[in-house]
Amino acid sequence: MTPVLHPVALVGAGPGDPELLTLRALRRLQAADVVLSDDLVDARVLALIGPQTRLLRVGKRGGCISTDQRFIEELMVREARAGRRVVRLKGGDPFVFGRGGEEADALRAAGLAVEVVSGLTAGIAGPAAAGIPVTDRRCTPGVALVTGHSGEGGRAPDWAALARSGLTLVVYMGVARCEQIVAALREGGMCGDMPVAVVAAAHTERQQQALSTLDGLCALLAREPGLGSPAVLVIGEVGALGAWASAQAEAAHQLRQA
Ligand code: SAH
Repeated sequence: MTPVLHPVALVGAGPGDPELLTLRALRRLQAADVVLSDDLVDARVLALIGPQTRLLRVGKRGGCISTDQRFIEELMVREARAGRRVVRLKGGDPFVFGRGGEEADALRAAGLAVEVVSGLTAGIAGPAAAGIPVTDRRCTPGVALVTGHSGEGGRAPDWAALARSGLTLVVYMGVARCEQIVAALREGGMCGDMPVAVVAAAHTERQQQALSTLDGLCALLAREPGLGSPAVLVIGEVGALGAWASAQAEAAHQLRQA
């Protein structure tokens, strides 16, 4: 007898803290027969998966090679065709970087239905955890989410156009490419004193944030290895509105009171 096929759920795990999962994400995780999880998914989110569910960690930090990707897609197809409820769990939002679109295409090409369960993306929830509103209208008309590492087959951002755009730039996977990104933005005309916030491991127990400038960024990252991956760079005036701004205001207030 042919089994009843369930849609494969591409589920966003959010940036870390399980409290930031959507209710739908939690339901899909708890009903799953098999979960294929990325590396970046927080252990506290994985702990919500029931003991009857098979958890497969299929992450591949950094250099993604296409055979791995094909293997993951084939595994999902095989499990779903056997009638199992499959969840593909990804850090943040499944459609913001991280190849969610490619996986959805592969599943549909195999004749399977796909359900996308959106999650909070690190590029918005991460800065927010440091008190940074990425589209604050006092500073910017909007935000661009860009990759610092376009990888094989991806298009590199037009840094000069971004430098002139006046948008907040939230750079994912940018720490290792700091030198090239800063040089390209400077060449595009961005000021060296533009605020840059780094938010690392946002919404996890290891969260760290720091404020720098475009010209000071690479030295800061070299000095503070804890600000490394996973981290987002927030390049733009909004960086200066972070929690440090209220900390400074508070310190100034206390000085005045003293
Ligand atoms: N789909 C994910 C992004 C995957 S790309 C999302 O929507 O968030 C991986 C990159 O995301 C990392 O290199 C880093 O730039 C960023 N990232 C993921 N989790 C993060 C976190 N908790 N804090 C800061 N940046 C994070």
